Amino acid sequence: MNRLLDELRGPVPPRAHDARAIAALAANPGCARRAVLDAAGVDKDGTARHLGFPAPFGQSQFAITRGNAFEALVKENGCAELLRLLRELLGLPVAQVGYQDVENVGSHLRASHTRALIDRAVRDRDDSAVFYDHPLLGLEIAGHTSYLEPDVLAFQLGGRFHIVEIKSFAVIDGQAEPEKVAAAARQSAVYVLALRALLEDLGHAPERVSHDVVLVCPENFANRPVATLVDVRRQLAVLRRQLARMTRVDRLLEGLPPGLTFSLAPDAEGVPTRSAGELAEALSQVPARYAPDCLSTCDLCMFCRDEARSCGSTDLLGRQVRDRLGGVAGMSEALGLAEGTVEPAEDQEEIAGVLRLANRLREECLA
Ligand code: SF4
Repeated sequence: MNRLLDELRGPVPPRAHDARAIAALAANPGCARRAVLDAAGVDKDGTARHLGFPAPFGQSQFAITRGNAFEALVKENGCAELLRLLRELLGLPVAQVGYQDVENVGSHLRASHTRALIDRAVRDRDDSAVFYDHPLLGLEIAGHTSYLEPDVLAFQLGGRFHIVEIKSFAVIDGQAEPEKVAAAARQSAVYVLALRALLEDLGHAPERVSHDVVLVCPENFANRPVATLVDVRRQLAVLRRQLARMTRVDRLLEGLPPGLTFSLAPDAEGVPTRSAGELAEALSQVPARYAPDCLSTCDLCMFCRDEARSCGSTDLLGRQVRDRLGGVAGMSEALGLAEGTVEPAEDQEEIAGVLRLANRLREECLA
């Protein structure tokens, strides 16, 4: 399978599968296109740009720099500021805390080193607390292992692990933007799931990983960090359900034409050698499941929306309407059934009746 995924990506380094990508993937478990591109580590942002359909979101360079500076501040001096915050938030009754930077072992060993440290922390439980910086956790997504990097893992007195998520959006008068908190909660739920899977694999109780994640943000426009506990039980339940619904990547690969590639291999000027038309043609070989939610979660949203528009797909109307219209794939077919100009197939009788009624009500309202 790895050889096939390498061919799909072409001779360029793979893009890491981060928690944001997994949360977005779980938000649309029926999309084979996204599942295949993510498994192959294809640069979706670069692909969308080369196709002429850049995504309408993404962090500015200023926001990225500000986020990195805030994270460095929280982690400086062996996470001293984080210790102050956690002492208040979790009632950590220790003055000192251990600090392990997993990055010191080199990138290729980080996952196994994280695994060994976590195992040791649970087995030799002494009354101490430890912060693990730059840990690397594996999580199996649709039969393919993805590697994730939470900001910090905190192992606390009492044998519980907490995921610590550091974000640079501000908390003003105790309130942060709800969408940003919701996105952070979805990402953190991915880390909780990955760490619970690791503990289970090591033969320890997964419940040792708390469902309360520690969200650290700057307070009131200053750079002073503030920490809050966010309960991610609901996000965990959704994530588990969605991941279980995903088709295994090896089964998706079986249906692809031989020689298919989404390669963005660059020329001497760094421009992809492949034409945008060829790349679009290759993408169209993998079925997508566009939904309006894609506009805030997937880099390919503008391309897939254009594709859904040009074939008049009911996907454009949102998941709820599309699911209610089950068996009617196109908008012109739905309109024809509503107006009675298209004869319903045997399995469309029920939905055709609903559409005719809706059309009659609409005409009465307009009259
Ligand atoms: S934007 Fe396209 S590739 Fe991305 S999840 Fe939506 S349908 Fe799938």
